[in-house]
Order: sequence, then C-alpha cells, then structure tokens
Amino acid sequence: MAKNSIVELGPPNLGQAEKDALCEVIESGWITMGDRVKAFESAFSDMHDVENAVAVSSATAALHLSLVALGIGPRDEVLVPSMTFVATVNTVMHTGATPVMVDIESVTRPHMSLADAETKLTERSRAVVIMHYGGYMMDLSAWRDFADKHGLFLIEDAAHAAGIADTARSSDAAAFSFFANKNMTTAEGGMVLLRDADLADRVRTLRSHGMTSGTLDRVRGRAVGYDVVGCGYNYRIDELRAALGLVQLDRLQDWNAQRVKIIDDYRMTLAATTPAVATLFDDDHVTSGHIMPVLLPAQADRTDVMARLKAEFIQSSVHYPPVHRFSYFADMLGEIALPHTDAFGARQLTLPLHPGLNHDDVVRVVKALKHALPDRCEAVSRPEED
Ligand SMILES: *Cc1c(COP(=O)(O)O)cnc(C)c1O
Repeated sequence: MAKNSIVELGPPNLGQAEKDALCEVIESGWITMGDRVKAFESAFSDMHDVENAVAVSSATAALHLSLVALGIGPRDEVLVPSMTFVATVNTVMHTGATPVMVDIESVTRPHMSLADAETKLTERSRAVVIMHYGGYMMDLSAWRDFADKHGLFLIEDAAHAAGIADTARSSDAAAFSFFANKNMTTAEGGMVLLRDADLADRVRTLRSHGMTSGTLDRVRGRAVGYDVVGCGYNYRIDELRAALGLVQLDRLQDWNAQRVKIIDDYRMTLAATTPAVATLFDDDHVTSGHIMPVLLPAQADRTDVMARLKAEFIQSSVHYPPVHRFSYFADMLGEIALPHTDAFGARQLTLPLHPGLNHDDVVRVVKALKHALPDRCEAVSRPEED
C-alpha cells in the first residue's frame, strides 16, 4: 500500500461483470422496464424471503410510494427520526402529512427511541418510519408491537440494510437504496419489499402513472390498452440498472460479510489504541456494515479532525446533520428538543469503510485519527445500556 494513496470513504465496487451486463442490455435492444427488472425484483425478494418486490428509481421513490400506497396524506402525522438522511422526512412532506421528529436512544445508540416516540403520539398519528442506522438493525418486533398497539403503519427506511434477512418481515413496507455509496449500487435505484400482495400491486401501479399495463406488455400483445386507476408517478427503474443490480446482488452477502470483518478490526484497533473515540452499538449487534460511524470526544473539533485526516489522504464524512437543524425544517417546526440527536450530530464522524480495505488501511486511519485529536481526551463514558 502506497503511503499517500487515498483511503476512500466508500467507493462503488464496479468491474468487468458490470460492463458486460450493461453491454448485453444495449445489444438486446430493450432498455426500459422489462425482463431484467422482473428478474432483479425476484432475486431481491428471494434473498430477503419476502414475497413482493417492486424496483423503483430510488429509495426516495420507494419511501414516497410506500406512504402513498398506505394512504398517508394531509392531516396525518408520521413519526420519523431526525438522525437520518433528509429523504426519510422529505417523503413524508411529499404526501402532505406532517413529520413528527423523534429523538435517538443515546449518543452510542443512534436508533430512534421507542420511549420518545410514545411521547410524540397524537390522535393524528398514522405511521412510523424507522431507519436502520448504519445497517444496525432496529428492534423490529418491539416496533411492530408499538405500531400495532397504536394502530400505526410501520415502514422501514432500509437504505442502509440491503441483504439483511429480517428487513421487511414484520413491517408494512421496506425501502432500499442502490445509490452509488450504498452496499450495492445501480448508480441510482431502489426497491420496495412488501408482505401484502394487494399493497404491492398498488405500489407497482403508482410507480408508472397509475397505469394498468406497461409498454412491454403492450408490445408483446399481452395487453391492448390501459386504464389509469390512480394518480401515479414516473418512478420506474430500467433494464440497464436492473442488469447492474443483478450482478451486484450476487456479491452483496460476501461484501456485507467483509464490511462486518473490517468493522470488527476497527473496533479492536480503536479500543486498543484510541479509547477516547467510541464505537457505536454492541459488538454483536446485527448489521449490514453500511458505514463505520464513531463518536468523537466532546473536546474534539470535528472540522479540524476531518481536515487533518484529509491532509493524510483519508476521506471522512458525517452521518448525519440532524434533519430538524436544517433551515427549512427549523423554520417550519420551530425549536424542538432532541438532545441526544443534537449531541450525537455534533460529535459523529464516519471513517472509510468498503470491502477493499485491509488491516493496514484500518491501522493507518486509526493512527491518523489519534493524531488528529486534542492532547487530553477522556474515554467516552457509555450510558447505561441493556
Ligand atoms: C441514501 C438514503 C436514502 C435515499 O436513497 P436514494 O436511493 O438516493 O433516494 C434514504 N434514506 C437513507 C437513510 C439513506 O441513506
């Protein structure tokens, strides 16, 4: 490994197999939704052992369609985390419903808090969107119980969790992302997994203008005309992306396993050399290993730490600036108190993680991080955890 090579945050993993798959689609002469999209949907549904899959243009589209298909609209409230990517919240806004932001459990467990969610319920609450932060699985049975007890729909933002078998098993819909920085990619792309076939049909119809048949069905003579049965969208994916998705899906489980191994290496190396930096969740928490998030000591200046890492050719990022602090949402919602989310949002740092990293890379990143910290940093005391 060259000393000055760049340690990338999480580049897409693309090669000859992807090139071949794209060429095959171009040579086939059919580039919009067709057999490859169907094959991609069925391979994804098999992997997660959930009956119904609908491939779409992004996870944002997947979340929006899930909410619309479930009938979420104006006058409804939807519980959401603020510690997430903004799309989780924007898609609730797109339906005309009101997002109600919920705090996280603690600064080392940035999952949406059930206890805080209880306090945010009103008679207008209709759904809850949970997000598997970093690919670390939320407690799905606890959230299913919560949703059932209060008559809510349960939707998973599973953008970080592709390949984890438990996703979509107990929720009403789960949305996945194949954006370039996710565990598998189609450049842009997403998927909805659903247990209910009727709901899946609704999502499938809404994906393409609310139309009852697709272009391929008409070309092949399976359908003569079409009706429009709802006010739909153009959230379609295409054959090129589906072909990429099929190739990437084949490698997803191996990649996820490699990611988890590298996370274990980070955990051990950080604990041994840099205890002032805390890792998140427990060592054995089930995860897809989407990112490598850490919590910096309170005294550290994150901007300075990131600049020092960059000077060592190490990329880093923040997951996430809390949504309730973005000006659009702050103006709309006013001052709301999400103390754990704020504390975590101020101290979180994401280190490089992708299947191509080796032990030397991990050591190099941790060493650079240690040198980037102020001289006297105390170990983070982890709050009481179960
Ligand atoms: C990436 C991401 C999204 C959006 O995914 P797109 O496919 O880019 O629309 C939504 N939620 C979370 C948590 C994400 O990380």
